[in-house]
Amino acid sequence: MNAEFVARAGKLADWIKQRNDFSVIYNYDADGISAGAIVCKSLERLAKTFFTKPLKQLYREEILKLKPEFPGAENFIFVDFGSGQKQELKEIFAKWNSNETDPKLDYIIIDHHQPTKEHFELELNPLLFGVDGGNEISAAGTSFLVARELDIKNADLAGLAIVGACGDVQDGQGKLIGTNAEILKIAEQAGVVKKETDLRLYGRMTRPLIQFLMFSSSPIIPNLTANEQNCIKFLSDLGIPLKNNEHWRSYDGLLPDEKKKLSSALLVHLHSFNVPEWKLNDLIGEVYTLANERRGTALRDAKEFGTLLNACGRHRMAEIGLKVCMGDRGENLLMASSLLLEHRRQLSEGIRLMQEEGLNEFDTFYFFDAGERIKDSIIGIVAGMLYGSGTISPTKPIIALSKADDKFSKASARATKDLVLKGLNLGKIFKEMQADFGQETEGGGHAIAAGIKFPSELKNYFLEELQERIKNQLGSGIRVKGPDKIK
Ligand code: C5P
Repeated sequence: MNAEFVARAGKLADWIKQRNDFSVIYNYDADGISAGAIVCKSLERLAKTFFTKPLKQLYREEILKLKPEFPGAENFIFVDFGSGQKQELKEIFAKWNSNETDPKLDYIIIDHHQPTKEHFELELNPLLFGVDGGNEISAAGTSFLVARELDIKNADLAGLAIVGACGDVQDGQGKLIGTNAEILKIAEQAGVVKKETDLRLYGRMTRPLIQFLMFSSSPIIPNLTANEQNCIKFLSDLGIPLKNNEHWRSYDGLLPDEKKKLSSALLVHLHSFNVPEWKLNDLIGEVYTLANERRGTALRDAKEFGTLLNACGRHRMAEIGLKVCMGDRGENLLMASSLLLEHRRQLSEGIRLMQEEGLNEFDTFYFFDAGERIKDSIIGIVAGMLYGSGTISPTKPIIALSKADDKFSKASARATKDLVLKGLNLGKIFKEMQADFGQETEGGGHAIAAGIKFPSELKNYFLEELQERIKNQLGSGIRVKGPDKIK
């Protein structure tokens, strides 16, 4: 592990050890919740007191609310954001601290997003140490480094670091790499995670076999993705019963022989469609089982655990996810499971809406404006799922818009790995647009998935800019004209 990176984690750990009461402000997505839970669990084990607050983004107005909301709080820990808001944090905390009679407020940052230039000694971010925060370590992994510096016995929290990394799709190369792989070793040694090479399609623990195949978007399986009848036939040709008595069988519930038969048949199937070799890594590669969780539950698979956390966060109940991560397998798990059902319902509703109304197809991207009909917190997930539902072709990114409030729209963009390999970087586009659109705009993210909040009145300009910028990244072979409607 990078020695300077670990040394900085030690510095943050020392800061924590010297204090007692904390306010942990964490990002509401799967990685942010896992990261927040790692921090909180370490504080709990040190018998420190803490309050928690999840946020969608660390917008300026959210930072300003913290002091009145946490009266008396002195020590803030920002988790999975903060590196992009160093200037705002510095300014606002300095203002609060200008009144010398009040107690001094202090903070640290644990993040893996693109940091702004100014130096802050109590910031832990892999990107400051040449470690890729996009696929070598997530916020959960970064928090884990602090937890380990606090106490070597926190090795068991490495399981949550793996959940966070998978929740942030850092296993996109068929396995976890870099610092994530090192944390994985610690998790295996602690007995909390079991690594296997197997089918990597989403839902191996809880999805009935038919859905396991038909919702596959990574990779898209020709003739099977989005085709229920073909999936049923494929499985019955292999002699794999779909049900066990009255219960739909999941992939995890298959016998070892059946698993082998299914994965080999899928490989042969993909080969027969001349699917490129690198895509086979999406089909078969590493999968991570949370060894101490109950079989057949979403918590047992790192990716499915991540979705459960997203369901909590994106439906404004991140605190429930945090408690599940911290070990509650009672009431909070029950709540989280029903949020997951509701999450799935809203996602299918969103997909249905987009399919029924039809998308606009520009030369360089698909576009859908949902207004208030799909929540801004899930619009990106719905957009990404359109690839797996066969609604859109993987040759163009998709941009979906949702109303954030009276003045602002939220755009979520999703792409495919093919497009990223061709040079598309959505996070970069939105970061650049943020600079162009002015102060109130906030945007960023990763090459394959990004988001931006911008004034709604700039919608047309936003679309024109997108056309140009995507064209510039993907090469000049693309003609730019207005949208066509597809249905
Ligand atoms: O919100 P959505 O799911 O579309 O976000 C996709 C990615 O973009 C996430 O990693 C999120 O943290 C990032 N993002 C960002 N700034 C925003 C909105 C989203 O960095 N204003």
